[in-house]
Amino acid sequence: MLRKFLLLILTALLLFLIWDRTSISYPYYYSKAKKAYNASQYSVAIKYFDRALSVKPNDSASRLYYAYSLAKSEHNYYVQKALYDISQSEINDPATQFATQEIVSVKKEIMKGLEDNYIFNALSGQDIVHWDINSFPLKVFITNQNIVPEYYIDNIKKAMIQWTNRTSFVKFEITNDKKNAQIYIEFKNFNKSCPENEFCHYTVAHTTPVITSSNLLKRMNLTFSITNPNGENYSDLEIFNTALHELGHTLGIMGHSDNSSDVMYASNDKASDIYAIYRSEQQYLTIRDLNTVVLLYRLAPTITNVRGYSKTNLYYPEIILGDSNVILEKKLLELQKYIKNYPNLSSGYINISSVYANLGEIDMAFLSLKQAEQFANSEDEKYLIAYNRAILYFNSKNYAEALNYANEAKNIKRSSEIDQLIDDINRFAEN
Ligand SMILES: [Zn+2]
Repeated sequence: MLRKFLLLILTALLLFLIWDRTSISYPYYYSKAKKAYNASQYSVAIKYFDRALSVKPNDSASRLYYAYSLAKSEHNYYVQKALYDISQSEINDPATQFATQEIVSVKKEIMKGLEDNYIFNALSGQDIVHWDINSFPLKVFITNQNIVPEYYIDNIKKAMIQWTNRTSFVKFEITNDKKNAQIYIEFKNFNKSCPENEFCHYTVAHTTPVITSSNLLKRMNLTFSITNPNGENYSDLEIFNTALHELGHTLGIMGHSDNSSDVMYASNDKASDIYAIYRSEQQYLTIRDLNTVVLLYRLAPTITNVRGYSKTNLYYPEIILGDSNVILEKKLLELQKYIKNYPNLSSGYINISSVYANLGEIDMAFLSLKQAEQFANSEDEKYLIAYNRAILYFNSKNYAEALNYANEAKNIKRSSEIDQLIDDINRFAEN
């Protein structure tokens, strides 16, 4: 009996504490956060909005100011991730819409000058593989090098120098310390002899990553064949071009470019990890090759050579690779087709307007709503047009116009969402 009685007291006390925390902490955190925001102390604001949202996760004002604070902060990995998470939220409120547009502009900012690349082909499935940038120069161990002509080694070294000269960060260093080498080069004869009177395909080299079961990149094994299938040595150019290409793989470019002028183009489709070279001119890393390797090293890796790799100054990969934009572009195409087939239906224009808004193309979003208006017949369509116009003005911080259209929508149809929107507009108009 005594035990039960104590337990009841504890339960009551616990409930009291929880109740106490919810009612008092939210206004406290929100006002602290808002004060910091108004003083342009965005990292402090982020901390307190975070706490406010842990008490009231769906509060639209906290969410929106949290998103504004993130947008005004330095766009490091964690800020990018937080913005991305808001943009992907199930709640369709101004914060989600703002974050979606912000993600588009962060992506533009990140990709500036690097637009021409084949980053999707550089991935290994969904994995982003690269070395910790602090591991450069990468230690290269060359085994049994005296079984090949000296110019083999010279041309491999020359290819390393081109990577160093053409990028600002790649460096290789030959080592005698086999145990601590990150790149392991060896020479073997792996080509089968060719059938007579047939064009002979052969492989000069291939690279194989050594990745542990816990996703740790241990080593890259680069294997050259000693001779071609006729038992002849490769030319110096063949060794140089092949080394240039294979070194790209050792850096983490796991796939191939689909542009034949790039060094990382694969001429042998059947085995995508094997490079068969038929080219006879000296190769140079292209802008696309360079943009791809730069972008790869700025993305937070899923497979790398150190544990606890600091991500702070790296990019949140979903921003570059995430499918939200791809989906929006697909939706856009789909709706354009729909409008072409049904040019007199309002719904197509209403829906395409929201896609444009999410893509950050505000002018197109307004234009589409104007077209939607021409063909709107039902109250629902008219309501949606007014409501969406209010949202567009709200996101552009034109609160007076936002309120006009919100009231227009309210006159057409009463709903809780329109009341919530009017409350939000009035709250933000005051600030
Ligand atoms: Zn290759």
